[in-house]
Amino acid sequence: MIEARGLHKRFGSLQVLRDVSLQIARGEVVAVIGPSGSGKSTLLRCLNHLETIDSGHIAIEGETLASTDAAGRCAYASERDLRRIGGKTGMVFQHFNLFPHLTVLENITLAPMLVLGLSRELAEARAQALLGKVGLKEKAASYPSRLSGGQKQRVAIARALAMEPDIMLFDEPTSALDPELTGEVLRTMRQLADEHMTMLVVTHEMGFAREVAHRVVFMDQGELIEDQRAADFFAHPQHARTQAFLQHML
Ligand code: ADP
Ligand code: MG
Repeated sequence: MIEARGLHKRFGSLQVLRDVSLQIARGEVVAVIGPSGSGKSTLLRCLNHLETIDSGHIAIEGETLASTDAAGRCAYASERDLRRIGGKTGMVFQHFNLFPHLTVLENITLAPMLVLGLSRELAEARAQALLGKVGLKEKAASYPSRLSGGQKQRVAIARALAMEPDIMLFDEPTSALDPELTGEVLRTMRQLADEHMTMLVVTHEMGFAREVAHRVVFMDQGELIEDQRAADFFAHPQHARTQAFLQHML
């Protein structure tokens, strides 16, 4: 579903991704962990084309988003293909990014109507079904300011799902939440995993990584230095930097 090879990305003189490679198969749940500033968000944003890479190769479901030739020139797909390929991934952000001036229902129906061309009736019917799925049917007419953080994040998940992505990218979806609200969001994500959604999840929730993820990858200073089955990752971390990080987290 995702094939990333040899990704390099710099912001000015700061090298943020160094030769990062990652493959994700259909239905796989992969957790990305690592210290702050290690490039986790940038990796997700490059896969979703919210950022461009400097070099490397990215394919989503076998379709090339970006590739680099032998001379080191990086080329992206056409605007039209980028939109289509980008539509295969949905993204959930740490800070929800809901539209504050729209109701919950409008937040979820806006893009399907505007981008997919769905009728209001169909978009609303699908939004209601998704609100049922995330346990927020009674909040359709509410504005985001009236919701708890956990509820906002579940709306954000429903909004991403409304675009019918094949892959969901989560960037620290529970990091902005009070501890008592993380459980409801993690349950929603676990439910998605049980339905075999392909998921790439940046998280500091080690319990989620251990119990829900099939694989865990560890990033440090722009490098992806460990990629293991979840059980092995926690039982036998290979690299000293992974071991040190886990000692802090567990
Ligand atoms: P993480 O998500 O692991 O905390 P990020 O991918 O957000 O790491 O950031 C990696 C590094 O890149 C950090 O040093 C961060 O300050 C820097 N960075 C991220 N986005 C930008 C940007 N748009 N411009 C300049 N530097 C950035
Ligand atoms: Mg981040």
